[in-house]
Amino acid sequence: MLNKIIAEESIQKAKKMTDKYDKIVIVTHISPDGDAIGSSLALYHFLLESGKMANVIVPNEFPGFLQWMDGAADIIIEEKSPEITKETIEAAELIFCLDFNTLKRIGRLEDMVKNSSAKKILIDHHPYPEKFCDVTISHPEISSTSELIFRFICRMGRYEDVNKSCAECIYTGMMTDTGAFTYNSNNPAIYYIISELLTKGIDKDAIYSKVYNNYLKDRIRLEGFMLYRKMKLYEAYKTALMTLSLEEHLKFNPQKGDTEGFVNIPLSIDKIVFSAFLREEKDLVRISLRSRGNFPSNQFAKEIFNGGGHLNASGGEFQGSLEEAVKLFEEALPRYKHLLI
Ligand code: 5GP
Ligand code: MN
Repeated sequence: MLNKIIAEESIQKAKKMTDKYDKIVIVTHISPDGDAIGSSLALYHFLLESGKMANVIVPNEFPGFLQWMDGAADIIIEEKSPEITKETIEAAELIFCLDFNTLKRIGRLEDMVKNSSAKKILIDHHPYPEKFCDVTISHPEISSTSELIFRFICRMGRYEDVNKSCAECIYTGMMTDTGAFTYNSNNPAIYYIISELLTKGIDKDAIYSKVYNNYLKDRIRLEGFMLYRKMKLYEAYKTALMTLSLEEHLKFNPQKGDTEGFVNIPLSIDKIVFSAFLREEKDLVRISLRSRGNFPSNQFAKEIFNGGGHLNASGGEFQGSLEEAVKLFEEALPRYKHLLI
């Protein structure tokens, strides 16, 4: 049996809304990752199974290694379909906000969701959620929103309505938000849930392969380039930094999500506890931070780059040049020395 983490009152309120309303929209954060798409599609399959009209809306494209998922082709991408997005949100009676804690994280969907008169339910695991929903189910101690979706469905007494597609999506989100169960993954409940998902017919080995053995050759060459040519170590701070300019990226046939995971690699170097990846985009520099152990990468993200996230995985944006971002990063390191070593 799973322990009851979500408050009973939240379950009852959310259940009432889910039962009552038929036109349901699910939104998730910009640059959706495996947990964002996994949790959203899992809830989508569950709602369809329950006879509801549901739509998943994301602000922008998601990576190719998630496009095999059942329902992925039905996802509405605001950047590509702004009119359909607007109409769908305007018609919504209930909006689920998944895997983000502040409306800032949904980009151009922010105003549409904020101004909608639909009831709203947040299900998320990022710390310090803002209060913009009628029901807030926020559990930073749980490693993925997808796990929370499984718990939510079970607590509504609807385990039977978890079909195979739903189970695959839940597994994918749990797997990607724990680096295939290599971090944030010591809670025994995770493995209880996986055993339940296996009884629904998922093939976990095949899912691993579809997500992680699905790279284009340019991506693998880019990884080699980054590690050989672009990784700088600050051994006195147990820190690694990689940067990628637009010009460099263009040599490797850039694809959405093709740099995902790079930031984790330097953490496999002996003694490195903090890793940063700074990637130049058209109008800004995107920051990805990862840490091992107690180093609060999210505090660094917040204080230096006005971002946020989890203790060991966080990020932010920087309005300026790549060189300026590197300078800011390097100047900040000494101030965090006491936390790094
Ligand atoms: P990633 O490095 O995979 O892009 O992001 C890792 C985590 O950092 C995300 O799951 C999210 O929690 C957080 N994050 C990334 N970018 C931002 C940002 O611009 N603002 C905030 N608040 N959090 C971010
Ligand atoms: Mn997540």
